[in-house]
Amino acid sequence: MSFDVIVVGAGNAAMAAALSAAEAGARVVVLEAAPLEHAGGNTRYAAGQLRTTFDGANDLSSLVPELTPEEAARCDFGTYGRADYLEDIGRLTGYRCDPDLAEAIVDNSLATLQWMRTIGARFQLSYRRQSVKVGDRIRFWGGLPIELWGGGAGLVEAYHGTAAKRGIEVRHEAMAHSLVLDGRRAVGVEGWWRGEPMRVTGRSVVLACGGFEANTEKRARYLGPGWDLAKVRGTAFNTGAGLDMAMAVGARPHGHWTGAHGSCWDMNAPETGDLVVGDGYQKYSYPMGITVNLDGERFFDEGADMQSYTYSRLGKAILKQPNMVAWQVFDQRHVPLLLDEYRIRRITKVRADTIEQLAEKIEGMDRARFVETVRAFNASVAHLDGRIDLSQKDGNSTRGLPLPKSNWAQPLDQGPFEAYGVTTGITFTYGGLRISPDARVLDAALQPIPGLYAAGEIVGGIFYDGYPGGTGLVSGAVFGRRAGKGAADPLQ
Ligand SMILES: Cc1cc2nc3c(=O)[nH]c(=O)nc-3n(C[C@H](O)[C@H](O)[C@H](O)COP(=O)(O)OP(=O)(O)OC[C@H]3O[C@@H](n4cnc5c(N)ncnc54)[C@H](O)[C@@H]3O)c2cc1C
Repeated sequence: MSFDVIVVGAGNAAMAAALSAAEAGARVVVLEAAPLEHAGGNTRYAAGQLRTTFDGANDLSSLVPELTPEEAARCDFGTYGRADYLEDIGRLTGYRCDPDLAEAIVDNSLATLQWMRTIGARFQLSYRRQSVKVGDRIRFWGGLPIELWGGGAGLVEAYHGTAAKRGIEVRHEAMAHSLVLDGRRAVGVEGWWRGEPMRVTGRSVVLACGGFEANTEKRARYLGPGWDLAKVRGTAFNTGAGLDMAMAVGARPHGHWTGAHGSCWDMNAPETGDLVVGDGYQKYSYPMGITVNLDGERFFDEGADMQSYTYSRLGKAILKQPNMVAWQVFDQRHVPLLLDEYRIRRITKVRADTIEQLAEKIEGMDRARFVETVRAFNASVAHLDGRIDLSQKDGNSTRGLPLPKSNWAQPLDQGPFEAYGVTTGITFTYGGLRISPDARVLDAALQPIPGLYAAGEIVGGIFYDGYPGGTGLVSGAVFGRRAGKGAADPLQ
């Protein structure tokens, strides 16, 4: 069988490319390194939150048709416009993001999610994570009212179901290691398929095979000391092979090669992601309490901003702490409000009636210093009553501490107390290939390499230092669609 377009990877970006190339009339093959039971990349592990522009309930009901006017009338969705989205990407990346790529994501976000519905993806309102009840109204926050039904796994199922119906061949255990060139043009891929040498050729190639987060050697080399010890939150198969393949034919690297999205992850989680637990190892209620290292010290401002804007930087902060470990501490005003991920079976948790007893139970903790940290923290905050509302910054800051907690600072004084042990979990790497807004891979002279496209985590120049939650899947789908369309075009 001969093909027009060869897609490397089988996650969000790859399948958006494959389906869009098939829609343009191309014969498509998808090469996936993982066996079927582990296929689908990081996409399969994703919670499925999606950041899109929207102008109130009408736009949202184009994604969630089940949203009735009565339900919409009970909710305050607000709006999230082009300027809001661009500002969030700009602010969190220190305004280093490639503006053309950022604009492409923002301007195509809603239309791309609408397209995803046509291939079978379903969406729902993110009540559990992104809303809060205020009186008799439900207020959504953080520009993220939409999430995938069934999470990333639901999306992978939808993509692959539709791909099968549309005659797209997906080969599992097909690991690409190099590109085939015809002159300057990328026309195929070589690798291994179930242990046998593989060579697949066509007219063009889409690389959508992720970053290098699952490669310990590359993590140490690019991200720096300690990152080799991080837990991998998602797939074990994103080892950076696509980056090597592209750079071997002259692709230009771009973006933040020493940067990665990393967050707080159960300290006893396995080396790489676990599809049964999924994102349950993450611990994202930290803005309510305090987080201390084994020296008993706080080391970041837990209330600096809303969780979806701070969580991606915590992995790096924890990496610098003794033993790469931190403990999130809560009291009974927080415990009933903790997210579901704090109530799973595989969890590293201690509980005690007093802070002193809690300190005793944490192995390796400087007990005296920990107790003193909590005492000083309690002395620095106003004793406010009432429920903590994480949907907006409340300005309840500590007073007089060298390291403030800028919002949601309430004393830890209602036992029993609970502490949760976390370490650095890496999600994906920020450095990658330089692409044009139409997803063509550029060379050192900033010229497109004919026949070569890229999308998803393999792309560099979008995220630096920080990341607005819910942008990864949208970015992959936007550029995946563009890559597939371009790769299918016989004139390109
Ligand atoms: C726990 C977790 C939660 C997340 N939650 C969210 C969220 O809520 N919202 C959001 O927007 N983002 C989220 N993300 C990030 C999001 O999952 C990624 O940005 C996105 O899935 C990346 O898609 P991709 O197609 O680029 O890569 P992937 O989905 O990782 O796909 C890459 C594919 O390439 C394959 N591959 C690798 N090397 C080769 C090779 N040499 N040959 C052939 N195939 C190869 C892999 O097996 C894999 O299938 C989360 C990530 C994790 C890990």
